[in-house]
Amino acid sequence: MADLQQIIDGIFSDLAPRLGEGKVADYIPQLACVDPKQFGISIATVDGHHYSAGDAAVPFSLQSISKVFMLTLALGKIGEAVWKRVGREPSGSAFNSIVQLEHEHGIPRNPFINAGAIAIADIVLAGSQPREAIGEYLRFLQMLSDDDSIYIDEKVARSETATGFRNYALAQFMRSFGNIEHSADHVLGLYFHQCAIGISCSQLARAGLFLAADGRNPLTGHSIVSAKRARRINALMLTCGHYDGSGDFAYHVGLPGKSGVGGGILAVAPGRASIAVWSPGLNRVGNSLLGSEALEMLATRTGWSVFAAH
Ligand code: GLU
Repeated sequence: MADLQQIIDGIFSDLAPRLGEGKVADYIPQLACVDPKQFGISIATVDGHHYSAGDAAVPFSLQSISKVFMLTLALGKIGEAVWKRVGREPSGSAFNSIVQLEHEHGIPRNPFINAGAIAIADIVLAGSQPREAIGEYLRFLQMLSDDDSIYIDEKVARSETATGFRNYALAQFMRSFGNIEHSADHVLGLYFHQCAIGISCSQLARAGLFLAADGRNPLTGHSIVSAKRARRINALMLTCGHYDGSGDFAYHVGLPGKSGVGGGILAVAPGRASIAVWSPGLNRVGNSLLGSEALEMLATRTGWSVFAAH
C-alpha cells in the first residue's frame, strides 16, 4: 500500500476539479451560507499517526455525526436500557421522517434518524438542565479529540431552533406515546446544540479514534467504552449511519460511517484508523457527495473495507 499521505493527496487532487458539486443543505438557513467549494480529509491511525489534506483544519457543522457521540453518552448513562427507547434497524426512510413512528408506537427505528436522536437526547438530559447536558457533551467531544477549541456555533443553533418545525413535531409526537420525558423545548435545546458543534476534519478524526481501537483512545490510553460497545456502535453506523443511503454506502465504501447534513462524514476502519471527510455539497439522500466518493476511493486504495479478507 502506498503511503497514506500520498493516498489522500491523490484523492484530493482527483476530486479538486469537482469541488462545489452537490447541493448544500439550505433547510437550516445558516448552513446555506457555507462556501460549497471546500473539501477536507483527515486520518487518525490507531498507531498514533495523523494525515490531512485540503481544508482539514476548517471547522464545519457536525450536525448528525453528533448522534454517534450522544449515543455513546446515553449508553454510558443507562446501558442497554437505551434499546427500550429506540430500535436498531435501518429505517429505509428519510432522516426526518415521521411515518414509521405511528406504527411503532413512538419508538424510532434507530438512534441515527432524527426521531431516534431526539429520544437519545431525552435520555442524556435526565437529571440535568439543558445547559448542563450541553456542557457535558461539549466537554466529552473536547476530551475525545484532546482539543478545547471545539465549540458550539450559536448562529447555527439559533437557525435550527427557528426553523426546526419537523423536529418539534417528532418530539411532540413521541411525547404523546410517552417516549419523551422532557419538554420539547428542553430536549430540542440539547439536540440543536449537539448538532451545531463547529469541528474540523482533523479534530473529528481524533474524536472518533476510540471506535477504531476497541473503545480505547490509543493516544491517551483512556478507556472510553468497552470493546464490545465500540463494536456495536460501529455495527449501527454501518447499517444505519447514512439514512436511506446506508446500503449504498456499505456497498461502495464498506466501512461504518455517520454522515451529517453539514457535509461531514466520520468513518471507522476497525483496528486501523478513524477518518473524517468534509465537503458541503450533498447527494440526493443528504450525504456529502464528494465525501462519500472520497471514502470509496480511500477504501479501494487502502483495502480497508470491513468486507475484505485482511
Ligand atoms: N440538525 C439536523 C436536523 O435535525 C441534523 C440532520 C442531519 O445532519 O442529517 O435536521
